Amino acid sequence: MRTVWHCFNTVIAVIFTVSFFTEIAAESSSVATIVDYEPLWSYDEESKWPGHHCQEGGKRQSPIDIKTSDVIPDFTKMFIKYGPLQFSGYHRVLVSGINNGHTIQFSSEGEEAIHPVVTGGPLKYLYRLEQLHFHWLSEHSINGVKFPMELHFVHVRSDLSVVEALGKRDGLAIISVFGNVQAEIDDFEPHVTEIMEYIPHLMNTGDRVSGVILDMTKLFSPNKESYYTYSGSLTSPECNEAVIWIIFDEPVYLTDAQYRQFGKIGVGRHNFRSLQKIKHHLVFTPGETRIHMPQIAVFFGDVVKLFREFFRKIGTFMSNGIKSR
Ligand SMILES: [Zn+2]
Repeated sequence: MRTVWHCFNTVIAVIFTVSFFTEIAAESSSVATIVDYEPLWSYDEESKWPGHHCQEGGKRQSPIDIKTSDVIPDFTKMFIKYGPLQFSGYHRVLVSGINNGHTIQFSSEGEEAIHPVVTGGPLKYLYRLEQLHFHWLSEHSINGVKFPMELHFVHVRSDLSVVEALGKRDGLAIISVFGNVQAEIDDFEPHVTEIMEYIPHLMNTGDRVSGVILDMTKLFSPNKESYYTYSGSLTSPECNEAVIWIIFDEPVYLTDAQYRQFGKIGVGRHNFRSLQKIKHHLVFTPGETRIHMPQIAVFFGDVVKLFREFFRKIGTFMSNGIKSR
């Protein structure tokens, strides 16, 4: 994830509190004049990031490696309590793009009332989209395997200010989509082509484009009901433990050429935070989308029953055989 304007703007650094030194401060500073493009932190020096959670860790830091064998199908709605995810307003999103020295970021523009919103799944409240940004390689991994890219759609609880949201465990919701690279992409596959025309204009720190309209639904995974979700943190300073992560398990696609284009963007050596230790993390997946699992459980239950029966008969046979000797 990425810091927004504050990284480059000493005016903002003075105006906003320390908590604003996170990626979500982005569009809050749209009126400020950019006077300094020197990033205040670096992916090469995570130990020097501002914020005690970044430096000393916490209970639910992100990103993490998701071990699918540890993921909990949420049949009892312990965490995923609010039905299917519901997205609204993502087809035509007015954004401005910036290269902020850490990533390419597209921030929602205009009145908050017209920003896209998401709710449902693990989200009790409405969350409005603040911005979309990119990591290459991915920050999260699945069973130890990283993807070439990860897209983060950063949302803030619509009933809270950004500062308030940073202090709540469910203040933010980040929808995460992995990006996978393949030589050619079929039209029916979801892909990142929607944003590629703007990338050549955002190659250097401080580059900006405005008045862009994106169809963000084209950047989503095709199956929005198959995801991992957990309570975690921002992956950039100040690593606030205020994020409900929703990580789709099906990727969108980039071509080799598109991925190489990202590689040329001037953001330093890489832009992902290192994997964090698993502590109080509990990762869930919707029970409904794992319907095959109870069937498998039933199947294995039947097998166990058959084996028990088999060994009971064998045991009876053996003991009878022994007795008969
Ligand atoms: Zn991110």
